[in-house]
Amino acid sequence: MDEAVADEHRLGVVEDRVLGAYDPGHDGPTLVIIGGVHGNEPAGIIAFRTVLARLLAHRPEAFRGRLVGIAGNLGALNDPDRRTRYLDADLNRLMTPELLESDADLADLHEARALDAALRDARDRARGPMVVIDLHTVSSPSPPFVAMSDSLPSRAVARHFPLPVFLAFEEHLAGLVADHATTELGAVSMIIEGGQHDDPTSVEVLEAVIWTALHGAGSLPIGEGPDLRTDPREVLARAAGDRARRVYDIRHRYAIRTDDFAIEPGRGAFDRVKRGKTVVAREGGEPVIALMSGRLFMPNRQPVRRVGDDGYFIAVEVGRAWLRVSAWLRKRAWVHRALPRVLPGVRERAGHPGELVIAPEIAAVYRRQLFHLLGYRLVRSSPVPGWSRPRRIWRGAAAVLGSIASIVRGVGRGGERGALPEERPEDWVAARRTLDVLADRDRAG
Ligand SMILES: [Zn+2]
Repeated sequence: MDEAVADEHRLGVVEDRVLGAYDPGHDGPTLVIIGGVHGNEPAGIIAFRTVLARLLAHRPEAFRGRLVGIAGNLGALNDPDRRTRYLDADLNRLMTPELLESDADLADLHEARALDAALRDARDRARGPMVVIDLHTVSSPSPPFVAMSDSLPSRAVARHFPLPVFLAFEEHLAGLVADHATTELGAVSMIIEGGQHDDPTSVEVLEAVIWTALHGAGSLPIGEGPDLRTDPREVLARAAGDRARRVYDIRHRYAIRTDDFAIEPGRGAFDRVKRGKTVVAREGGEPVIALMSGRLFMPNRQPVRRVGDDGYFIAVEVGRAWLRVSAWLRKRAWVHRALPRVLPGVRERAGHPGELVIAPEIAAVYRRQLFHLLGYRLVRSSPVPGWSRPRRIWRGAAAVLGSIASIVRGVGRGGERGALPEERPEDWVAARRTLDVLADRDRAG
């Protein structure tokens, strides 16, 4: 970043968690913009301040609802060296009900509790649906992208952004701020990464994200906003290039195991990797080889990395047809009723209506994608072995035969369908997406 730009974008001390709000008093959606969940990523806060200043200067007639900006990790943002992602623990992994309610005494956990309180306050003041957008930047050069939980209401907001979209991030990482906003507060939420930390265009991109989000949430149509030099969607489309609107399903996460993890030189976001062939990183002097084929997602080049941090992810592009079929299937109540009856190795979860328990030996055959297609999130899962297709087919056939045999044995004993078997710790658990379930309830009246 050159001096002049650095000066213009200097953040200064962030005093209040609530960065400001614009609310001319008409009913409508609430758009919550979160910035600085990671202390070394001030771009989102700078972008929010710019948008808020423009709204206050122009006061557009057409504005409906409320825009509010919230800072994430004040302690890390105000840390004098400005390179601190977090103090003791990553705030974007701490937002689970268990941790928030625990009496653990970590600096970042106090931040998490205060952030939760600010989000709840925004929801209590809302006079319409709430959309939460958590703005970030990344450590490697990367086009901007959206990461979100794949519910139909989230898809409806995300389609306004001409950006690539990554699904199922929350399945690999517990405690994401955005996920908390959905599962605990019922808000449509997404993470938007604006580009590399120090790249001045990241601020410009995140500003365009906020204008587009106001449009997508229904607060302010782009044509009626303060006189913008260009349609903000053009800024996003340009930054995304030929990745715009492509959709990827995240299927694998590699967690850092030692303190000498390093991404292989030349490997970047969106690069193609091949199962068993591509060396993605080096760790402990050994090559780290891709366990599946797909695209490299969020390769970790942070200057400070800790054991257990994300090393990288692998994502697979899903086509329009996949998305359409998935939207159709997940809206059908009979599909959800049928799954535990027709899929071998899958049963209802005792005491949790709408959740499924999947035997791990068959889970490796179905893999994540079947459940994603049907609108389920894996709340508990394990890495699946990188089996070849014939081996998967063979294991699948064996599982089907096994389940037929157990039905026959049950009939032989003249038994009724008995109580559900005990859940084992190695079983996978899948649950429908919170917002899909809420949307079903709305439709049912
Ligand atoms: Zn971040």
